[in-house]
Amino acid sequence: MPTLSPPRAWAEIELDALRHNLGVAREISGCRVMAVVKAGAYGHGLEEIARALAAEDIAFFGVANVGEARRITDAGVTTRIYLLGATWEAERVEVVERGWTPCLSTLDEARHFSDLATAAGTVLKCHLAIDTGMGRGGFVPDELPAALPQLEALPGIEIEGAGSHLPSADEDEAFTRDQFARFSEIVRRLGGRDRFEWIHLSNSAGLLGYDNSPCNLVRPGLMLYGISPLPGDQDRLRNVMSLKSRVTLIRELPAGHGVSYGREFITECPTTVATIGIGYGDGYPRSLSGKGAEVVIRGRRLPLIGRVTMDQIMVDATGAEVSVGDEVELFGPNLRVDELARKAGTIAWEILTGITPRVTRMHR
Ligand SMILES: *Cc1c(COP(=O)(O)O)cnc(C)c1O
Repeated sequence: MPTLSPPRAWAEIELDALRHNLGVAREISGCRVMAVVKAGAYGHGLEEIARALAAEDIAFFGVANVGEARRITDAGVTTRIYLLGATWEAERVEVVERGWTPCLSTLDEARHFSDLATAAGTVLKCHLAIDTGMGRGGFVPDELPAALPQLEALPGIEIEGAGSHLPSADEDEAFTRDQFARFSEIVRRLGGRDRFEWIHLSNSAGLLGYDNSPCNLVRPGLMLYGISPLPGDQDRLRNVMSLKSRVTLIRELPAGHGVSYGREFITECPTTVATIGIGYGDGYPRSLSGKGAEVVIRGRRLPLIGRVTMDQIMVDATGAEVSVGDEVELFGPNLRVDELARKAGTIAWEILTGITPRVTRMHR
C-alpha cells in the first residue's frame, strides 16, 4: 500500500467567487462578457474555469493562442472562442474548421483566412483589431479607410466585431479617457452598432474605471479572479484562488544562526523557525526574499526570513502557536496576491500565471 502523501502545496479555487465576480463585471459594465482565460485561466485551471463559466452565458472565451482554444473545445465547451493574439499560418486551417474567432491585424491574415474558409465552404467570423495605443497588434487608425473596404470584399470572412486594447487603464486616466473617445469615434465612423455586432475595448481596469457605453462587450481577466487593478473596487470582488502549504518542521535556532542560502538572514536572538513546504519551484517568487513578505498561519501573519528556496521557505514563528502540519496561506482572502506582487516587485497577473504545475489545483 502506498502511504497517503498529500501535496506540499495546493491552490484552492472557489468557483462561487468566480461567478460572483462575473456578476460584478456585468453589473458595472452593462455589457456582455468575453471571459479572458488565457494562460490556464490565470493559473486557475483552463478546463475547469471554462467549464464553470460555460453555463453562465459568456459571449466568448478569450485565449492567447490556438493551443488554449483547442483545450477548451476538446473539453466539450461550446462557447465561442476568441483568439487575442495572432495566429501562425499553419494554425489557420484549424481555426476555420473549428470556427474560432480571430482578430485581424493585417490584410495578409485576412486574405489567408478568407481563402481557407472559401475552400472549406464556410464564412469565418472575424473581428477587426484596431491599435489605438497598445502597439501590439491591430490596424493603426490611418490604415482603416483603405483596409476596411478590402476586408469587406473578401468572401470567406465576415467582420462581425471591432476591438482595441488599453495599455494603461490602471495608470493613466487622461490617456485612457482619450483612447475611449478616439475608439468610439473610429467605430462610429465605420458604422457603429449597425455595422458591428461586437464592439469591445476594456480589460478589467477599463471595465471598472470608465464608462463602457460605447461598447457592448468587455474582456475582463484579472477581476474575474478576484483582484481589482484599481484599488477602489477591491471590496466588491471575492477572492478566488488561495495558495496554501503546510508547516513541515519547527525548530529552535540560537542567536547568530544563518537562515537559508547566502546567509542573508542571521538570527538576532533565539528564534523559532517554521519551515514550510513551498518555494519558487511552485511559483512562490524568489524575489520575495528579504522584502518583508508574510504568510498567514492560524490567522496570524508571520514574517518570511531568509531567501525563498526551490521547495521550502522559513518564517519566524517565535511566540506564535504553530505546529507541524498547520495550514499556511501564502495568499488568499487574508493576504491578497497583489500585496505579494508589490513586495516581489511584480504584478498580480505574473504571480497567478507563474504558479507551477506542481501545485495541485482544487476546485470547489
Ligand atoms: C489579457 C487581456 C485582457 C484581460 O486583461 P485583465 O487586465 O486581466 O483584465 C483583455 N484584453 C486583451 C486583449 C488581453 O490581452
